[in-house]
Amino acid sequence: MKTEETLKPELIAPCGINCGICLAYLRKKNKCGGCNGPDDQKPNYCRTCVMKNCELLAKTDSGLCIDCEKFPCQRLKRLDKRYSTGYNVTNIGNLRHIKEKGMSDFLETQRERYRCAKCGGVICVHRNFCLECGKE
Ligand code: SF4
Ligand code: SF4
Ligand SMILES: [Zn+2]
Repeated sequence: MKTEETLKPELIAPCGINCGICLAYLRKKNKCGGCNGPDDQKPNYCRTCVMKNCELLAKTDSGLCIDCEKFPCQRLKRLDKRYSTGYNVTNIGNLRHIKEKGMSDFLETQRERYRCAKCGGVICVHRNFCLECGKE
């Protein structure tokens, strides 16, 4: 998939994770539709996610944790630590970017960051290579 096809607003999870660069979304078999997609396609850990199912999230207009009174809560901070360490991604930083500069600006930087220089496909955040052509 090309970056233009996969990096879109509905693929940004409430916690700030970009599902469009997730291995489960990009792979061809057993594909996940993303955090905002159908529950039955998600792996168990995302279906039962405490952030997606948080009752305070339902009170936000945007459906994003950045608009919650408790932002950034401990759960978000734990996730941020895990992703910062493992994948050089800060979901809290993603949400702040969206809040300050808007969703379009955020998605544009994601497209630049994760676009494969060889084929224009998406570099998977969990594998660090392009699932289309294999380029690292
Ligand atoms: S597995 Fe989770 S993080 Fe990955 S695309 Fe699905 S909902 Fe998003
Ligand atoms: S930031 Fe708010 S809505 Fe998001 S998981 Fe934490 S408490 Fe729930
Ligand atoms: Zn490629």
